Amino acid sequence: MVIYNEKQQRIAEKINPAARISNWKDWKWQLRNSIKEISTFEKLTGITFEENERKLLEKTVEKFPLSITPYYLSLIDTKDYKNDPVFLQSVPSPGELVVEKYDMVDPLSEDKDSPVPGITHRYPDRVLFHISNICSMYCRHCTRKRKVGDRDSIPNKEEIIKGIEYIKNTPVIRDVLLSGGDPFMLSDEYLDWILTELRKIPHIEVIRIGTRMPVVLPYRITDELIATLKKHHPIWINTHFNHPREITGSSREALKKLADAGFPLGNQTVLLAGVNDCPRIMKRLVHKLVQNRVRPYYLYQCDLSEGLSHFRTPVGKGIEIIESLIGHTSGFAVPTYVIDAPGGGGKIPVMPNYLISWSTNKVVLRNYEGVITTYKEPDRYEPIFCDRNCEVCKLQLNLDGAEAIQNIGIEKLLSDYDDAISLTPENNDRMDRRSDNKISE
Ligand SMILES: *Cc1c(COP(=O)(O)O)cnc(C)c1O
Repeated sequence: MVIYNEKQQRIAEKINPAARISNWKDWKWQLRNSIKEISTFEKLTGITFEENERKLLEKTVEKFPLSITPYYLSLIDTKDYKNDPVFLQSVPSPGELVVEKYDMVDPLSEDKDSPVPGITHRYPDRVLFHISNICSMYCRHCTRKRKVGDRDSIPNKEEIIKGIEYIKNTPVIRDVLLSGGDPFMLSDEYLDWILTELRKIPHIEVIRIGTRMPVVLPYRITDELIATLKKHHPIWINTHFNHPREITGSSREALKKLADAGFPLGNQTVLLAGVNDCPRIMKRLVHKLVQNRVRPYYLYQCDLSEGLSHFRTPVGKGIEIIESLIGHTSGFAVPTYVIDAPGGGGKIPVMPNYLISWSTNKVVLRNYEGVITTYKEPDRYEPIFCDRNCEVCKLQLNLDGAEAIQNIGIEKLLSDYDDAISLTPENNDRMDRRSDNKISE
């Protein structure tokens, strides 16, 4: 297992001639020596940009700052850096200055769906809680580019307390997703405090942490961090590998520590043009992930954030990738491909179509090989009329602690007990013209 190779040693010594492997593996040393200037990047990698190119890059960095850990920098193949997936994710491209008409500053309306600073409450039973606004590496494809490097938006302790108060006072929340920035930029003590406060809230069942540390700074996953987190189980951890090249000896070791400590591990990948928009690369990635006990969770269509247009692919590319995975490989290695709805509708799964046609008693399907098959539905099926009166229903459900009945969206249209026959958008002219002005929703 290569943890410290010659290339890394060379980079370390350029940073500080007295640097040792113990420095390299110290996450605070890595942070202190993160590369924030194009000139430092050139010095450490030996890559020289042309004068014009450098000017453009520096201009880009003024708008969207640069930060690369020495570790992540060491993964760049300097000989073919222009096509290197690590380079493309960490070094700015002048393409970031291009603003398309449809680009948005906050495409997912995270700030609008925010009851208190730091919290995005979009779904009924879970919230996103931004507890840090800094990262060890600034991903060029960051959906929250608007906040990167904005010192003012680093939440202080008072704001975190307000977030915790909101969660405490909102009993429908059962799942809290700690995100950022990168939550692991916070100290172990601070994380311990936040987790302790959250664990005091009886309705919180699950805590999740989204972090890119195993990818960009695996040395952050220290035994002390693990010991701190373990006290607050159940904690699920989602990380963010985009390319098989990012799975190195060091990142494997970090993942092993996390998995051994009992954190279920997931991975979110963003589909990025020129980086991973290839079925073969994706298959390699998901295989390497499951080898390391990481379950591919989501494959994201690139958001409509400003400065990301050069990374976006058509949706068809994602469907093609999912087509190449479903049936072709282990079911648990296939992520769900999602588009996060612009305007704040949440994640919408998209998939190839497997249902070709159907009649009243038969469905026609196709499999991954193109085999067309049928499934005969039962001749007799007695649906149970559901008025949501679960106490008298013959199906057994222990109502102790069972979910309250919700009444949302298509679920509501499908239900027997609700009179809604359609969903109509607000401010619909046709509905406004109706004299009784009644919206059926
Ligand atoms: C992604 C996301 C979640 C979590 O969604 P899951 O599908 O449960 O993983 C929660 N809140 C917000 C705002 C999100 O963007």
